[in-house]
Amino acid sequence: MAFMSGRRLAQLLGIVALGALAAGCTTTKPATDAKGAKLAYAAEPKESSTSGFFSHNFSGLAGRSVTVNSIADLKLGYHEVVLTFDDGPMPGRTENILKVLDNAGVKATFMMVGQMARSYPALVREVAAHGHTIGTHTQSHANLAHLSPAAAEAQIDGGIKSVSAALVPSMHSVAPFFRFPYLASTAALRRQLAARGIVVIDADIDSKDYFQSSSAAPASS
Ligand SMILES: [Zn+2]
Repeated sequence: MAFMSGRRLAQLLGIVALGALAAGCTTTKPATDAKGAKLAYAAEPKESSTSGFFSHNFSGLAGRSVTVNSIADLKLGYHEVVLTFDDGPMPGRTENILKVLDNAGVKATFMMVGQMARSYPALVREVAAHGHTIGTHTQSHANLAHLSPAAAEAQIDGGIKSVSAALVPSMHSVAPFFRFPYLASTAALRRQLAARGIVVIDADIDSKDYFQSSSAAPASS
């Protein structure tokens, strides 16, 4: 796999302040062997950034970067989150997310499904061209906890291969970041991924925005 060559292991993982929390998930548990994966960090959040929450007032959000060699390097500031978007790319939706992120001036990480990347490779490249990080999320969004070790590995490798293939015509590459579909991990698979230098991105907050088709803010939490 391209990203295992060590040629370009450093990658960016966007972190933004609380004002954009409604758009995604917090992720704070990369594996300890990130081997220099670089995290794009959002601006020093200000307490006032919570004003405008659920509105389109994103003023005050910006970015910063930090190099992460281990989980100890990933220290979120007050009201900071890592935004991640799973399951795409999806025409008609991913572009809207890119617009919102551009307007906010922040970067995020897209955990893409291999089959989706195969279907919409140009959209994969568009996400990368906007400066966001692209990780993977298996080939067909399978629940790996229900598969044999060999089948689970094939799912992981298939996702990486498909997303990598979509990026081939560009200057971008897949980050060594992986999220388990349904967050259904096993200790054995986590060990295997860690041994390969792949960082498992967990989620502390699930926005559950996949239950609604509108981009309107939810009425509560
Ligand atoms: Zn998913």
